Amino acid sequence: MRFENTQKAYHLKSDKELYKAYYLFRMISNQTLVSFGSRLTRMALKLKLPIAPLFKATVFSQFCAGLTKEDSLELVKKLEISKIQSCLIFAAEESKSEQGMDTSLENTLETLIFSKQRASLPFTVIKLTTLGPISLFEKKGAKVSFTTKEEEAWQRTLNRINTCCEKTAALGAHLLIDAEESWLQDAIDEIAESFMEKYNKETTLIYTTLQMYRKDRLSYLKNLHKKATKKRFKIGVKLVRGAYIEKENIRALELEIPSPICESKEQTDLNFNAGLDFILDHLSHCSLFLGSHNEYSVSRVLEWMKKNKVAKDNPNIWFSQLLGMADHISFNLASEGYRVVKYLPFGPVNEVIPYLIRRAEENTSVSGQTPRELSLIEKELKRRKAMAS
Ligand SMILES: Cc1cc2nc3c(=O)[nH]c(=O)nc-3n(C[C@H](O)[C@H](O)[C@H](O)COP(=O)(O)OP(=O)(O)OC[C@H]3O[C@@H](n4cnc5c(N)ncnc54)[C@H](O)[C@@H]3O)c2cc1C
Repeated sequence: MRFENTQKAYHLKSDKELYKAYYLFRMISNQTLVSFGSRLTRMALKLKLPIAPLFKATVFSQFCAGLTKEDSLELVKKLEISKIQSCLIFAAEESKSEQGMDTSLENTLETLIFSKQRASLPFTVIKLTTLGPISLFEKKGAKVSFTTKEEEAWQRTLNRINTCCEKTAALGAHLLIDAEESWLQDAIDEIAESFMEKYNKETTLIYTTLQMYRKDRLSYLKNLHKKATKKRFKIGVKLVRGAYIEKENIRALELEIPSPICESKEQTDLNFNAGLDFILDHLSHCSLFLGSHNEYSVSRVLEWMKKNKVAKDNPNIWFSQLLGMADHISFNLASEGYRVVKYLPFGPVNEVIPYLIRRAEENTSVSGQTPRELSLIEKELKRRKAMAS
Protein backbone atom coordinates (compact mmCIF):
# COMPACT_ATOMS: atom_id res chain seq x y z
CA MET A 1 0.00 0.00 0.00
CA ARG A 2 1.26 3.46 -0.85
CA PHE A 3 0.35 6.31 1.41
CA GLU A 4 0.10 8.94 -1.29
CA ASN A 5 -3.55 9.98 -1.05
CA THR A 6 -3.08 13.48 0.34
CA GLN A 7 -6.71 14.39 -0.11
CA LYS A 8 -7.62 11.75 2.48
CA ALA A 9 -4.63 12.57 4.65
CA TYR A 10 -5.40 16.27 5.04
CA HIS A 11 -9.15 16.48 4.56
CA LEU A 12 -9.61 17.73 8.14
CA LYS A 13 -7.28 20.68 7.50
CA SER A 14 -8.42 23.93 5.91
CA ASP A 15 -6.07 25.62 3.41
CA LYS A 16 -5.00 28.02 6.16
CA GLU A 17 -4.21 25.17 8.56
CA LEU A 18 -2.31 23.34 5.87
CA TYR A 19 -0.17 26.40 5.09
CA LYS A 20 0.47 26.76 8.82
CA ALA A 21 1.55 23.12 9.05
CA TYR A 22 3.82 23.64 6.04
CA TYR A 23 5.62 26.62 7.59
CA LEU A 24 5.88 24.84 10.94
CA PHE A 25 7.58 21.80 9.37
CA ARG A 26 9.84 24.16 7.39
CA MET A 27 10.93 25.74 10.67
CA ILE A 28 11.27 22.40 12.43
CA SER A 29 13.51 21.11 9.65
CA ASN A 30 16.04 23.82 10.51
CA GLN A 31 18.20 22.34 13.27
CA THR A 32 19.86 25.66 14.22
CA LEU A 33 16.50 27.39 14.49
CA VAL A 34 15.03 24.59 16.62
CA SER A 35 18.00 24.47 18.95
CA PHE A 36 18.08 28.28 19.34
CA GLY A 37 14.26 28.48 19.65
CA SER A 38 14.20 25.70 22.26
CA ARG A 39 16.79 27.45 24.43
CA LEU A 40 14.98 30.76 24.10
CA THR A 41 11.62 29.19 24.99
CA ARG A 42 13.02 27.39 28.04
CA MET A 43 14.48 30.69 29.21
CA ALA A 44 11.19 32.52 28.58
CA LEU A 45 9.37 29.86 30.60
CA LYS A 46 11.79 30.32 33.51
CA LEU A 47 11.30 34.09 33.36
CA LYS A 48 7.53 33.51 33.20
CA LEU A 49 7.23 35.57 29.99
CA PRO A 50 3.78 35.38 28.34
CA ILE A 51 4.65 33.07 25.43
CA ALA A 52 1.55 30.84 25.70
CA PRO A 53 -0.56 32.80 23.13
CA LEU A 54 2.18 32.48 20.49
CA PHE A 55 2.45 28.73 21.09
CA LYS A 56 -1.32 28.26 21.16
CA ALA A 57 -1.64 29.86 17.72
CA THR A 58 1.21 27.87 16.16
CA VAL A 59 2.78 24.66 17.44
CA PHE A 60 0.02 23.81 19.94
CA SER A 61 -2.76 23.65 17.36
CA GLN A 62 -0.66 21.36 15.13
CA PHE A 63 0.48 18.88 17.79
CA CYS A 64 -2.09 19.13 20.61
CA ALA A 65 -5.79 18.26 20.71
CA GLY A 66 -6.90 20.75 23.34
CA LEU A 67 -6.46 22.22 26.77
CA THR A 68 -8.47 19.50 28.50
CA LYS A 69 -9.84 16.03 27.74
CA GLU A 70 -13.29 17.49 27.19
CA ASP A 71 -11.83 20.11 24.87
CA SER A 72 -10.07 17.37 22.88
CA LEU A 73 -13.32 15.49 22.23
CA GLU A 74 -14.09 17.68 19.24
CA LEU A 75 -11.06 16.26 17.44
CA VAL A 76 -11.74 12.74 18.71
CA LYS A 77 -15.19 12.94 17.08
CA LYS A 78 -13.77 14.25 13.80
CA LEU A 79 -11.22 11.42 13.70
CA GLU A 80 -13.96 8.93 14.54
CA ILE A 81 -15.73 9.88 11.30
CA SER A 82 -12.52 8.95 9.45
CA LYS A 83 -12.49 5.63 11.37
CA ILE A 84 -9.44 6.70 13.36
CA GLN A 85 -9.44 5.92 17.07
CA SER A 86 -7.64 8.09 19.61
CA CYS A 87 -5.58 7.92 22.73
CA LEU A 88 -5.56 10.97 25.03
CA ILE A 89 -2.26 11.89 26.66
CA PHE A 90 -1.88 14.46 29.39
CA ALA A 91 1.32 16.02 28.03
CA ALA A 92 2.17 18.41 30.85
CA GLU A 93 5.48 17.84 32.58
CA GLU A 94 4.39 16.84 36.06
CA SER A 95 5.97 17.84 39.32
CA LYS A 96 8.27 15.29 40.89
CA SER A 97 7.00 15.95 44.44
CA GLU A 98 4.91 13.27 46.17
CA GLN A 99 1.92 15.52 45.64
CA GLY A 100 2.77 15.85 41.93
CA MET A 101 2.93 12.05 41.64
CA ASP A 102 -0.46 11.73 43.31
CA THR A 103 -1.80 14.26 40.80
CA SER A 104 -0.34 12.16 37.96
CA LEU A 105 -2.12 9.13 39.36
CA GLU A 106 -5.40 11.05 39.53
CA ASN A 107 -4.92 12.27 35.94
CA THR A 108 -4.27 8.75 34.67
CA LEU A 109 -7.30 7.33 36.50
CA GLU A 110 -9.49 10.15 35.17
CA THR A 111 -8.24 9.53 31.62
CA LEU A 112 -8.89 5.79 31.97
CA ILE A 113 -12.47 6.40 33.10
CA PHE A 114 -13.05 9.15 30.52
CA SER A 115 -11.69 6.95 27.70
CA LYS A 116 -13.78 3.97 28.71
CA GLN A 117 -16.90 6.02 28.02
CA ARG A 118 -16.08 6.25 24.28
CA ALA A 119 -15.44 3.28 22.01
CA SER A 120 -13.05 5.39 19.94
CA LEU A 121 -10.68 5.86 22.92
CA PRO A 122 -9.45 2.28 23.36
CA PHE A 123 -6.08 3.00 25.02
CA THR A 124 -4.61 5.06 27.86
CA VAL A 125 -0.88 5.76 28.14
CA ILE A 126 1.22 5.87 31.25
CA LYS A 127 4.80 6.99 31.82
CA LEU A 128 5.78 5.16 34.99
CA THR A 129 8.34 7.74 36.11
CA THR A 130 5.52 10.27 36.58
CA LEU A 131 4.33 8.06 39.45
CA GLY A 132 7.59 7.74 41.37
CA PRO A 133 11.03 9.29 41.87
CA ILE A 134 13.27 8.77 38.84
CA SER A 135 16.28 8.16 41.10
CA LEU A 136 14.54 5.10 42.55
CA PHE A 137 13.83 3.62 39.12
CA GLU A 138 17.53 3.99 38.38
CA LYS A 139 18.64 2.47 41.70
CA LYS A 140 16.16 -0.39 41.38
CA GLY A 141 17.42 -1.18 37.89
CA ALA A 142 21.04 -1.10 39.04
CA LYS A 143 20.14 -3.36 42.00
CA VAL A 144 21.37 -0.76 44.50
CA SER A 145 19.70 -1.21 47.90
CA PHE A 146 17.23 1.38 49.13
CA THR A 147 17.38 3.23 52.42
CA THR A 148 14.29 2.80 54.64
CA LYS A 149 12.87 6.12 53.40
CA GLU A 150 13.52 5.15 49.78
CA GLU A 151 11.88 1.77 50.35
CA GLU A 152 8.77 3.57 51.61
CA ALA A 153 8.77 5.92 48.60
CA TRP A 154 9.18 2.91 46.25
CA GLN A 155 6.23 1.16 47.90
CA ARG A 156 4.13 4.28 47.33
CA THR A 157 5.27 4.27 43.68
CA LEU A 158 4.30 0.61 43.24
CA ASN A 159 0.96 1.28 44.92
CA ARG A 160 0.21 4.09 42.46
CA ILE A 161 1.12 1.87 39.48
CA ASN A 162 -0.92 -0.97 40.95
CA THR A 163 -3.93 1.35 41.29
CA CYS A 164 -3.67 2.25 37.57
CA CYS A 165 -3.39 -1.37 36.44
CA GLU A 166 -6.16 -2.53 38.77
CA LYS A 167 -8.44 0.19 37.40
CA THR A 168 -7.53 -0.80 33.83
CA ALA A 169 -8.51 -4.39 34.55
CA ALA A 170 -11.71 -3.43 36.38
CA LEU A 171 -12.79 -1.30 33.42
CA GLY A 172 -11.61 -3.82 30.83
CA ALA A 173 -9.54 -0.97 29.36
CA HIS A 174 -6.10 -1.05 27.70
CA LEU A 175 -2.98 0.53 29.20
CA LEU A 176 0.22 1.28 27.27
CA ILE A 177 3.33 1.58 29.45
CA ASP A 178 5.86 3.92 27.81
CA ALA A 179 9.52 2.97 27.42
CA GLU A 180 12.06 5.43 28.82
CA GLU A 181 15.84 5.78 29.14
CA SER A 182 17.73 2.47 29.35
CA TRP A 183 18.97 3.14 32.89
CA LEU A 184 15.34 3.41 34.08
CA GLN A 185 13.98 0.67 31.86
CA ASP A 186 15.04 -2.44 33.84
CA ALA A 187 12.78 -1.37 36.71
CA ILE A 188 10.00 -0.47 34.26
CA ASP A 189 10.34 -3.86 32.51
CA GLU A 190 10.06 -5.72 35.80
CA ILE A 191 6.89 -3.83 36.71
CA ALA A 192 5.35 -4.11 33.23
CA GLU A 193 6.02 -7.87 33.15
CA SER A 194 4.47 -8.42 36.57
CA PHE A 195 1.25 -6.62 35.55
CA MET A 196 1.06 -8.35 32.17
CA GLU A 197 1.38 -11.64 34.06
CA LYS A 198 -1.39 -10.61 36.46
CA TYR A 199 -3.89 -9.07 34.06
CA ASN A 200 -3.22 -10.45 30.56
CA LYS A 201 -4.64 -13.92 31.18
CA GLU A 202 -7.61 -14.08 28.82
CA THR A 203 -7.00 -10.97 26.78
CA THR A 204 -4.29 -8.29 26.48
CA LEU A 205 -4.99 -5.30 28.71
CA ILE A 206 -1.46 -4.18 29.64
CA TYR A 207 1.12 -3.34 26.97
CA THR A 208 4.83 -2.81 27.52
CA THR A 209 7.00 -0.83 25.07
CA LEU A 210 10.09 -2.15 23.32
CA GLN A 211 12.61 0.28 21.81
CA MET A 212 14.25 -1.59 18.99
CA TYR A 213 17.16 0.87 18.72
CA ARG A 214 18.47 -1.03 21.73
CA LYS A 215 20.80 -3.91 20.84
CA ASP A 216 19.38 -6.15 23.56
CA ARG A 217 15.67 -5.85 22.82
CA LEU A 218 15.25 -8.76 20.42
CA SER A 219 16.62 -11.25 22.92
CA TYR A 220 14.57 -9.53 25.64
CA LEU A 221 11.43 -10.05 23.51
CA LYS A 222 12.22 -13.71 22.92
CA ASN A 223 12.80 -14.29 26.64
CA LEU A 224 9.61 -12.43 27.50
CA HIS A 225 7.73 -14.69 25.12
CA LYS A 226 9.24 -17.79 26.77
CA LYS A 227 8.22 -16.55 30.23
CA ALA A 228 4.73 -15.68 29.02
CA THR A 229 4.26 -19.12 27.46
CA LYS A 230 5.44 -20.83 30.65
CA LYS A 231 3.34 -18.67 32.95
CA ARG A 232 0.39 -18.55 30.56
CA PHE A 233 -0.10 -14.87 29.99
CA LYS A 234 -0.38 -12.75 26.86
CA ILE A 235 2.13 -10.11 25.82
CA GLY A 236 1.13 -6.67 24.61
CA VAL A 237 3.95 -4.85 22.83
CA LYS A 238 4.07 -1.25 21.71
CA LEU A 239 6.93 -1.55 19.24
CA VAL A 240 8.94 1.63 18.63
CA ARG A 241 12.45 2.49 17.47
CA GLY A 242 13.22 4.70 20.48
CA ALA A 243 13.25 8.39 21.28
CA TYR A 244 16.30 8.97 23.50
CA ILE A 245 19.17 8.19 21.12
CA GLU A 246 21.23 11.32 21.79
CA LYS A 247 20.83 11.13 25.57
CA GLU A 248 21.76 7.41 25.52
CA ASN A 249 24.89 7.88 23.43
CA ILE A 250 26.10 10.91 25.41
CA ARG A 251 25.66 9.06 28.71
CA ALA A 252 27.53 6.00 27.41
CA LEU A 253 30.40 8.22 26.30
CA GLU A 254 30.53 10.04 29.63
CA LEU A 255 30.50 6.82 31.64
CA GLU A 256 32.87 5.13 29.17
CA ILE A 257 30.51 2.20 28.75
CA PRO A 258 29.34 0.63 25.47
CA SER A 259 26.25 2.36 24.13
CA PRO A 260 23.11 0.21 24.39
CA ILE A 261 22.00 1.66 21.03
CA CYS A 262 22.51 0.03 17.63
CA GLU A 263 25.51 1.40 15.72
CA SER A 264 23.50 2.73 12.81
CA LYS A 265 19.99 3.46 11.61
CA GLU A 266 20.27 0.39 9.35
CA GLN A 267 21.04 -1.81 12.37
CA THR A 268 18.06 -0.31 14.23
CA ASP A 269 15.86 -1.03 11.21
CA LEU A 270 17.05 -4.65 11.03
CA ASN A 271 16.43 -5.09 14.75
CA PHE A 272 13.02 -3.45 14.41
CA ASN A 273 12.06 -5.74 11.53
CA ALA A 274 13.22 -8.81 13.45
CA GLY A 275 11.11 -7.76 16.47
CA LEU A 276 8.15 -7.07 14.24
CA ASP A 277 8.42 -10.44 12.50
CA PHE A 278 8.76 -12.25 15.83
CA ILE A 279 5.59 -10.66 17.21
CA LEU A 280 3.63 -11.32 14.02
CA ASP A 281 4.76 -14.96 14.00
CA HIS A 282 3.49 -15.34 17.58
CA LEU A 283 0.27 -13.38 17.23
CA SER A 284 -1.72 -15.97 19.19
CA HIS A 285 0.20 -14.88 22.32
CA CYS A 286 1.20 -11.34 21.38
CA SER A 287 -0.61 -8.14 20.48
CA LEU A 288 1.15 -5.56 18.38
CA PHE A 289 0.80 -1.79 18.78
CA LEU A 290 3.07 -0.37 16.11
CA GLY A 291 4.16 3.16 17.10
CA SER A 292 5.91 4.29 13.96
CA HIS A 293 5.85 6.90 11.20
CA ASN A 294 8.00 4.72 8.98
CA GLU A 295 6.10 3.71 5.85
CA TYR A 296 8.27 0.64 5.24
CA SER A 297 7.61 -0.69 8.74
CA VAL A 298 3.88 -0.20 8.34
CA SER A 299 3.98 -1.81 4.88
CA ARG A 300 5.89 -4.78 6.26
CA VAL A 301 2.97 -5.51 8.59
CA LEU A 302 0.41 -5.00 5.82
CA GLU A 303 2.27 -7.43 3.55
CA TRP A 304 2.45 -10.01 6.33
CA MET A 305 -1.28 -9.62 7.01
CA LYS A 306 -2.10 -10.04 3.35
CA LYS A 307 0.18 -13.05 2.93
CA ASN A 308 -1.23 -14.75 6.01
CA LYS A 309 -4.83 -13.81 5.21
CA VAL A 310 -5.22 -11.94 8.48
CA ALA A 311 -8.27 -9.63 8.62
CA LYS A 312 -7.47 -5.92 8.34
CA ASP A 313 -9.27 -5.24 11.60
CA ASN A 314 -7.57 -8.03 13.54
CA PRO A 315 -7.89 -6.97 17.21
CA ASN A 316 -4.24 -7.86 17.89
CA ILE A 317 -2.75 -5.44 15.37
CA TRP A 318 -2.80 -1.68 15.91
CA PHE A 319 -1.04 1.12 14.05
CA SER A 320 -0.34 4.39 15.80
CA GLN A 321 0.99 7.83 14.90
CA LEU A 322 1.25 11.12 16.77
CA LEU A 323 -1.18 13.97 16.18
CA GLY A 324 0.06 16.38 13.52
CA MET A 325 2.46 13.83 12.05
CA ALA A 326 2.26 11.10 9.43
CA ASP A 327 -1.40 11.81 8.66
CA HIS A 328 -0.83 10.22 5.26
CA ILE A 329 -0.26 6.90 7.04
CA SER A 330 -3.06 7.22 9.62
CA PHE A 331 -5.84 8.34 7.28
CA ASN A 332 -4.96 6.04 4.39
CA LEU A 333 -4.68 3.01 6.69
CA ALA A 334 -7.95 3.76 8.48
CA SER A 335 -9.84 4.25 5.24
CA GLU A 336 -8.71 0.76 4.19
CA GLY A 337 -10.12 -0.73 7.42
CA TYR A 338 -6.97 -1.17 9.53
CA ARG A 339 -7.01 -0.32 13.24
CA VAL A 340 -5.43 3.09 13.72
CA VAL A 341 -4.96 5.05 16.92
CA LYS A 342 -3.85 8.66 16.89
CA TYR A 343 -1.92 9.83 19.98
CA LEU A 344 -3.60 13.07 21.11
CA PRO A 345 -1.61 15.12 23.62
CA PHE A 346 -3.58 17.68 25.62
CA GLY A 347 -2.98 20.05 28.53
CA PRO A 348 -2.65 23.72 29.48
CA VAL A 349 -0.46 25.50 26.89
CA ASN A 350 2.24 26.65 29.31
CA GLU A 351 2.57 23.18 30.78
CA VAL A 352 2.79 21.30 27.48
CA ILE A 353 5.45 23.61 26.02
CA PRO A 354 8.32 21.33 27.21
CA TYR A 355 6.57 18.42 25.43
CA LEU A 356 6.26 20.50 22.26
CA ILE A 357 9.93 21.47 22.39
CA ARG A 358 10.90 17.81 22.69
CA ARG A 359 8.67 16.98 19.72
CA ALA A 360 10.36 19.68 17.62
CA GLU A 361 13.84 18.53 18.68
CA GLU A 362 12.94 14.91 17.94
CA ASN A 363 11.70 15.88 14.48
CA THR A 364 14.89 17.63 13.51
CA SER A 365 16.88 14.57 14.59
CA VAL A 366 14.60 12.13 12.75
CA SER A 367 16.07 12.32 9.30
CA GLY A 368 13.72 11.77 6.43
CA GLN A 369 10.39 12.37 8.14
CA THR A 370 10.15 16.15 7.98
CA PRO A 371 11.05 16.37 4.26
CA ARG A 372 8.42 13.69 3.61
CA GLU A 373 5.79 15.66 5.59
CA LEU A 374 6.72 18.78 3.62
CA SER A 375 6.53 17.12 0.23
CA LEU A 376 3.10 15.63 0.97
CA ILE A 377 1.70 18.94 2.23
CA GLU A 378 3.10 20.65 -0.89
CA LYS A 379 1.45 18.00 -3.04
CA GLU A 380 -1.91 18.56 -1.36
CA LEU A 381 -1.67 22.35 -1.62
CA LYS A 382 -0.95 21.99 -5.34
CA ARG A 383 -3.84 19.59 -5.75
CA ARG A 384 -6.22 22.01 -4.05
CA LYS A 385 -4.98 24.90 -6.19
CA ALA A 386 -5.51 22.87 -9.36
CA MET A 387 -9.02 21.93 -8.23
CA ALA A 388 -9.87 25.55 -7.51
CA SER A 389 -8.66 26.83 -10.89
C1 LIG B 1 2.51 6.17 18.87
C2 LIG B 1 3.96 6.33 19.27
C3 LIG B 1 4.35 6.00 20.57
C4 LIG B 1 5.69 6.14 20.96
N1 LIG B 1 6.09 5.78 22.22
C5 LIG B 1 7.40 5.82 22.56
C6 LIG B 1 7.88 5.35 23.82
O1 LIG B 1 7.11 4.90 24.68
N2 LIG B 1 9.22 5.40 24.08
C7 LIG B 1 10.12 5.87 23.15
O2 LIG B 1 11.34 5.86 23.42
N3 LIG B 1 9.70 6.34 21.95
C8 LIG B 1 8.38 6.33 21.64
N4 LIG B 1 7.98 6.79 20.41
C9 LIG B 1 8.95 7.46 19.51
C10 LIG B 1 9.66 6.45 18.64
O3 LIG B 1 10.53 5.68 19.45
C11 LIG B 1 10.53 7.09 17.54
O4 LIG B 1 11.43 8.00 18.09
C12 LIG B 1 9.78 7.80 16.46
O5 LIG B 1 8.55 7.21 16.21
C13 LIG B 1 10.60 7.78 15.15
O6 LIG B 1 10.75 6.47 14.69
P1 LIG B 1 9.96 5.91 13.40
O7 LIG B 1 9.87 4.44 13.47
O8 LIG B 1 8.66 6.61 13.37
O9 LIG B 1 10.76 6.50 12.19
P2 LIG B 1 12.20 6.37 11.50
O10 LIG B 1 12.40 7.72 10.89
O11 LIG B 1 12.28 5.20 10.60
O12 LIG B 1 13.24 6.14 12.64
C14 LIG B 1 13.86 7.13 13.38
C15 LIG B 1 14.41 6.41 14.58
O13 LIG B 1 15.47 5.52 14.18
C16 LIG B 1 16.46 5.46 15.20
N5 LIG B 1 17.72 5.98 14.67
C17 LIG B 1 17.90 7.12 13.94
N6 LIG B 1 19.21 7.30 13.65
C18 LIG B 1 19.87 6.26 14.20
C19 LIG B 1 21.25 5.90 14.27
N7 LIG B 1 22.22 6.65 13.70
N8 LIG B 1 21.59 4.77 14.92
C20 LIG B 1 20.64 3.99 15.50
N9 LIG B 1 19.32 4.28 15.47
C21 LIG B 1 18.94 5.39 14.84
C22 LIG B 1 15.94 6.35 16.34
O14 LIG B 1 15.20 5.52 17.24
C23 LIG B 1 15.02 7.32 15.63
O15 LIG B 1 14.03 7.87 16.50
C24 LIG B 1 6.64 6.65 20.01
C25 LIG B 1 6.23 6.96 18.71
C26 LIG B 1 4.91 6.81 18.33
C27 LIG B 1 4.52 7.15 16.93
